[in-house]
Amino acid sequence: MTSIELAESGAGRPRLHAVAAEHEPADTPAPSVDLDRASAAIAELLAAFGRDIRSPHLADTPRRVAGAFAELLSPRPFEATTFPNEEGYDDLVVVSGIPFDSLCEHHLLPFTGTAHVGYVPGDRLLGLSKFARVVERFARDLQVQERLTRQVARWIDTELQPLGVGVVLEAEHLCMSLRGVQARGARTVTSSFTGVLRDDGRTRREFLARCGLRDTE
Ligand SMILES: [Zn+2]
Repeated sequence: MTSIELAESGAGRPRLHAVAAEHEPADTPAPSVDLDRASAAIAELLAAFGRDIRSPHLADTPRRVAGAFAELLSPRPFEATTFPNEEGYDDLVVVSGIPFDSLCEHHLLPFTGTAHVGYVPGDRLLGLSKFARVVERFARDLQVQERLTRQVARWIDTELQPLGVGVVLEAEHLCMSLRGVQARGARTVTSSFTGVLRDDGRTRREFLARCGLRDTE
């Protein structure tokens, strides 16, 4: 399996939590979907590829494809349940091996993989099941992996104001494995660290070790 290390977004760039929260909105509403318009466009696409859209198998395909894309681009709403950190827990919390599916915005082909998320809490804790929902919130969109990684880290940073956040995404992109270079099995790894996970090598290495990964430094 080939491993491709991409940019460690944010590494070495000092930034203040308050500034980041003010200038980088953590979340925006999902755009609305016009299913009839999408179906008509997919029928047109099939016709452009010389397909007979009146054939029994293709007759409902535009509607099915529009529905499938709508599902892939619509995250389920969720409550970001947080709790007071009454015990003063100040060590790493790691949720690793979160599966995710997203759509590459350059080719409209899926990329699928695994997310690892960790943070060192401040005053608030996030319900553990919510980490998968946060990943899904941003994965169900037209994406590039680098942005998805940053959005998950930024959301946690903004919502929880923790001492640090680490997010690592490993994914296979169908636009790379099925077409173009046809690098089947190639894995793209992206990461985003803030606070103590960015500044303290020992904490970052512990996070990566708990995810079954190694620091490149
Ligand atoms: Zn692509």
